[in-house]
Order: sequence, then structure tokens, then C-alpha cells
Amino acid sequence: MEKEKIFFTMLMAIFSFFIMVERSNAQNPTIMVRIMETTDLHARMLGYDYETKKKTVEYGLEWTSSHIKNSRLEFPNTLLFDVGDAIVGNALAKYSFLSYLFNWMDVHPVYKVMNEMKYDAATVGNHEFNYGLDFLTASLSGADFPFVNANIYLEDGNYYAGDDINFFNPYLILNKQFVDSEGRKHTVKVGVMGLITPIAAIWDREYFNGKLKIKNMRQTAEHFVPIMKNQGADIIVVLAHAGLTADEGLKKKKWGNSVYSLSQVKGIDAILYGHSHSLFPNKSDPQTLYGMNHSKGTINEVAAVQAGYWGNHLGMIDLQLKKAGEDWVVFNCQSTVQPIFRTVKQRKIPILPKDPLVMKIIKNDHHRILNYIK
Ligand SMILES: [Zn+2]
Repeated sequence: MEKEKIFFTMLMAIFSFFIMVERSNAQNPTIMVRIMETTDLHARMLGYDYETKKKTVEYGLEWTSSHIKNSRLEFPNTLLFDVGDAIVGNALAKYSFLSYLFNWMDVHPVYKVMNEMKYDAATVGNHEFNYGLDFLTASLSGADFPFVNANIYLEDGNYYAGDDINFFNPYLILNKQFVDSEGRKHTVKVGVMGLITPIAAIWDREYFNGKLKIKNMRQTAEHFVPIMKNQGADIIVVLAHAGLTADEGLKKKKWGNSVYSLSQVKGIDAILYGHSHSLFPNKSDPQTLYGMNHSKGTINEVAAVQAGYWGNHLGMIDLQLKKAGEDWVVFNCQSTVQPIFRTVKQRKIPILPKDPLVMKIIKNDHHRILNYIK
């Protein structure tokens, strides 16, 4: 009799414990957001080498696109960003510039593809400036998604910083409808800021001198992050066209102009970066600095990812959000770089079939280029 009583009491305790857990889950829903990154595409829309005239499975946005679409099917809450160096680097890029000069470019072929892929936002890389500001402006006008950059300013000829004018929109706050772990919808405010390594102003000085100047990345972030927070950003994502460490050519101006330095700015939740064509996280990377975690994909505890180049990897940051008062805050993260091919017995095999939509969009341009190369 006594045993039965104990058993019954225990059963009740377990039962009420589960009800409690259930209730607290309902009161504390979580949101999982997958943030996806492409970077340094260098006009590789297709897995095609215009020099050897051969198809390849090793790069090309037509391969990466399938991974993006897969993630969108798998997860209800996703974001897609590009981190720059998209429009310069191969015959497609040269052809686009020539067609602009001859006045028959409507939308830049790279942005034709990216428009269809529904990017949430993008930033510019140093190579975006290679063909000059007029071509850049004309190209960007064909993109259906917004561009952000916070540290390129108009050269205004005075030393007073208070009247400086941004060349691009420095940041934006996206109101995203996300679904929580209980299936309920919430509006999450995603702040997105863009930054570029100041080396762009040195490498393309003919387009910068007297027209544009690039400010320190870290100081710019320290200026804008609190502004974005004040405007209600729940999470802050930085699109940084800069390497983990600063460019050698910056000499004495290296401080603050690296992703590593950016990771020390308070309030940033995720850094998507590019420029140096490397991978992060990457356990076999010898370039590991203090505070870098290649298992989780964090730098000084900030989620970070770098997706290689030419679309050979899709960068992904999975952020877990929970409610803190009225705001959504990050309580866990995991970064991954997903390759588009694997090598088995020295053969390169694509992981997913290519997305035929990409070729469909730029088929005419592609054939014109093949003629132009001839
Ligand atoms: Zn670059």
C-alpha cells in the first residue's frame, strides 16, 4: 500500500514537471534563423571556365543556388546576403562592362541572376570599383535588392566629421516575419550593416581620390551599432568585405580594419566576411588567432562565416534566438561552410545537382560571350 502511494506521488510529480516544461516552452519560444552567405563570386554565375571553354563542378553560383534553395525548403526562417566582389573577374564581367560602354546593358547579368535568387541585401567589395563609379552606379541600379556600406563617404574637403555624407545607405533594418518553435509568427528586426577594407581606396585610387574616402571599419561599426540598436534592431549582422586580418598594404592603418578587430565591437551578432578567399570555420586553417573557435564558428564569441570564393561554398550561420523582454536575443549559434562538391578517388562530384534557372537567366549573355571570345 505504502509503495503504491510513493509510486503514485512520483508519477504525479513527473507529470506536473512535464506540464511545467511544456508551459515554460510555450512562454519562452525560440526562433532558429539560418543566415546564408555568398562572397567573392567574381562573376562566376556558371560552372564554366571561359579560358579553357570547359564546364566545371568546382565553382559557379548555379551550384551554390541549389544549396540555398535546399536550406529554404528545410528551414522556415532564412536570410541571404552577398559580401561583394561580384561583378569583376572573368569574361562575363568584361563583356558586361563592354556592353555598358556600348550602351546595351540593361541589367548587369550578375544582378539578373542575383535578383532571381532573392537576396535580402548585399555589400560592395573592392573589385566593384575596378571599372569606375559610373559603371558601378549603373550596375547597382539594376539590382532589386538593397546595398549597404557604412564606411565609404563622399570626400568633402574638410576635416570635420560631423557633416560627412555616406556614399551608400550605411545600414538597413529588415522587418522579417519569422516562425518560432511553437509555430507562431513574430516580427524580428534584423539590422544589416556593410563595411569594406580601406585598401579599396588605395588599389583604385583613380576613382577614390578627391571623390570618396573610406573610414576605419571598427570605428564606423562602433558608431552605427548603437544607432541601429536604438532603432530597434533585435540582431545585428555585419557584411564585411575584409579579411580576418588587415590588408598588408594598409601599413600603419591596419588597426580596426580587420574582421578580427570587428569581432570585438559590442552588439554585433553575426559577421559574414570575404575578400581573402578563405574559409571560416575551417579546422585545418593555420591562421587561428586567440578567441577563434573553429568548432562553433565564432571569433571572440561572435558568430562568423567566410564562404571561400566563386560560389564554391555556401556560408551558413544558424542563430538561436530567445525572447528577452520585448527583444529577441541570440543565445546560441553555429557556423558552417557547405562545399558544392566532394572528391572521391580523385574525381570531383557535385553534392547537389545544379540549379537550371541560372543558365536560363543568362543563356543569351553566355552565348554572346562565347562569340565575343572567338
Ligand atoms: Zn576583395
